[in-house]
Amino acid sequence: MDIRIGHGYDVHRLAEGLRLVVGGVEIEHTKGCVAHSDGDVAIHAICDALLGALALGDIGKLFPDTSAEFKGIDSRLLLRRVCELVASRGYSISNVDCTIALQRPKLRPHIDTMRERLSECMGISVDRISVKATTTEGLGFEGDEAGISAHAVALLRGNE
Ligand code: MG
Repeated sequence: MDIRIGHGYDVHRLAEGLRLVVGGVEIEHTKGCVAHSDGDVAIHAICDALLGALALGDIGKLFPDTSAEFKGIDSRLLLRRVCELVASRGYSISNVDCTIALQRPKLRPHIDTMRERLSECMGISVDRISVKATTTEGLGFEGDEAGISAHAVALLRGNE
């Protein structure tokens, strides 16, 4: 059986007055992400995990931040395209697991909505999508509320 694993990591700077979009969900907050796209770190990390599993590079390579086509783009569209690429290569997504590090606000109330949005976008069931959130106990750039980060892993299986 052909099994592939991939890992993704993403960081965005936070600044006052911008939108905060995480896992496909817009979250009420005073700060948001500085980014070419909507700055969704969770989706970017998941995209990179999926691409990494197939050694297809990363989202920066697929969707250059110099391209006007991707300016302010809803990252769910990028994830959808990555999932289409995975399918076109003959693989199915077994599961993804994503951890988001953000000091404030608490993400817990939004986690299940994120999983549902990701499920719709990826075409796999919610029970194959894990999203977790943590603070960094006030340490590092996340703790200083200067940025947000996310890690993700993905497991793919070959369809034969
Ligand atoms: Mg990013």
